[in-house]
Amino acid sequence: MSYHETVLSAIGHTPLVRLQKLVGPDDATVLVKLEYMNPGGSIKDRMAVHIIEKAERSGLLKKGGTIVENTSGNTGVGVAMAAAVKGYRCIFTMPDKMSKEKQDTLKAFGAQVIVTPTNVPADSPDSYYSVAKRIAAETPNSFYLNQYHSVDNVEAHYRLTAPEIWEQTGGKLDAFVAGLGTGGTMSGCGKFFKEKSPKILNVGVDPIGSVYHSMFETGKLSQPHVYKVEGIGEDMMCGAMDLSVLDDVRQVTDAQSFVMARRLAREEGVFAGGSSGAAVHVAVQLAKELGKGKTIVVPLPDGGRAYISKFFSDEWMRDNGFPVATAGEGVSGATV
Ligand code: PMP
Repeated sequence: MSYHETVLSAIGHTPLVRLQKLVGPDDATVLVKLEYMNPGGSIKDRMAVHIIEKAERSGLLKKGGTIVENTSGNTGVGVAMAAAVKGYRCIFTMPDKMSKEKQDTLKAFGAQVIVTPTNVPADSPDSYYSVAKRIAAETPNSFYLNQYHSVDNVEAHYRLTAPEIWEQTGGKLDAFVAGLGTGGTMSGCGKFFKEKSPKILNVGVDPIGSVYHSMFETGKLSQPHVYKVEGIGEDMMCGAMDLSVLDDVRQVTDAQSFVMARRLAREEGVFAGGSSGAAVHVAVQLAKELGKGKTIVVPLPDGGRAYISKFFSDEWMRDNGFPVATAGEGVSGATV
């Protein structure tokens, strides 16, 4: 018999898949890592369990405790899944731009969700950070997970995600491309790869409107503005974001992210979210620049299911002014 004692040990060991149609024969190999195959459906599962188990060991999280977190959804699922197995209560705050499906998914695990306005600065008392902090302070026996400023978020990717990629590629890796949200994935994996070889390029992907690109280029915060892609980009610097591991930060538009996510599904059969589309858009560009013989790894943080009523809907794409390809027509010529 082969089985897992709980769903939590089924986290990780996600497959790497080579892109066939989105890259040309003279381009570098692009391997996407299907993080949506984790039991909670995203790259955040490892991190959630890593942080919770560390907090248990250090006594910060006690029996019968409540975990509080501000989350765009995926961390919440990882945390709620672990909390269900381990018997903790969960309260999440989430900005209102996030899909209804994401909120309902958290509720399905028995968590409480508090929706906060998206378009307020991080330091506003109404922001999802401030509300989470306040709830944690007011709730007895609570643990504020705080992924945005947690070194354990970075450590989870350094100890778990990156070594897995290293093993799967046999160390034959020339570039790592990942979207920047909290920065945990890039800071942890990027550090691991640079320690293995400083020649490995770490390329961050940032939506236009987020501050990371200008922080990387100039060391200064830009004026943030709202964009539609979910899970990447920030309006502040996060403690989990270590810009020093990066060789480059490339900006993507919402249209580029969504068009590429749609192409991934239609042309490669890979059903992933908008941040995956953003990262693959940059990886496909980089594959042309690096050329044949090089290998690029791109984690795809979550799956497409949560976005069916958004960018996978032609109507939604049109309503939001994004290009839509009809069947068989392709979208390569679209101006995005
Ligand atoms: N994509 C999605 C869909 C996410 O939920 C996240 C996490 N916010 C990321 C990308 C970025 O990962 P990280 O927080 O590790 O930078």
